[in-house]
Amino acid sequence: MTFEEKFWGKCEQEDVYDGCWNWTGAVDSEGYGWHTLPRIPGSKPGTEEHSLNRAVKAHRLAFFLHYGWYPELVCHECDNPSCCNPYHLFGADSSHNNKDTFIKGRNKTVRGSDGRFMNYYPVFGEN
Ligand SMILES: [Zn+2]
Repeated sequence: MTFEEKFWGKCEQEDVYDGCWNWTGAVDSEGYGWHTLPRIPGSKPGTEEHSLNRAVKAHRLAFFLHYGWYPELVCHECDNPSCCNPYHLFGADSSHNNKDTFIKGRNKTVRGSDGRFMNYYPVFGEN
C-alpha cells in the first residue's frame, strides 16, 4: 500500500461525492484530525530534516495529496473539522481568508514546519 492509500483508508468515505470524509485516526480537542508523516528516508539524526515536526492536520494533508500544493490555510466549506473530503476544502492564506486566493495561492511558499516537510513529499510518496 502506498502512503496515499494508507492515508485515504483512514477517512470514512460514506458518500464519496457529497458526504464528509471523517478522519478515523487521532483527533484533537477542536475536532481536527492529525496524521504523523513518515520520517524522511535517509535523514540523519541531528539534522534539520530528521527533526522536522511530522505531525500535520489530516485535512491539510488531504488537500495537499489531492491538489498538489500546500496553502498557508486549509478551510472547510462544510464546517466539519475532521472532514478530509478534498471537495469540501479550499486553500487560502492568512491575509485573504477566502476562495479568491485559491488560484493565486499556487506556488506560494509555505511557512512553518509542516510546510517545509511537504517539500520532501516526493521522496516518501512513492513507497
Ligand atoms: Zn465535509
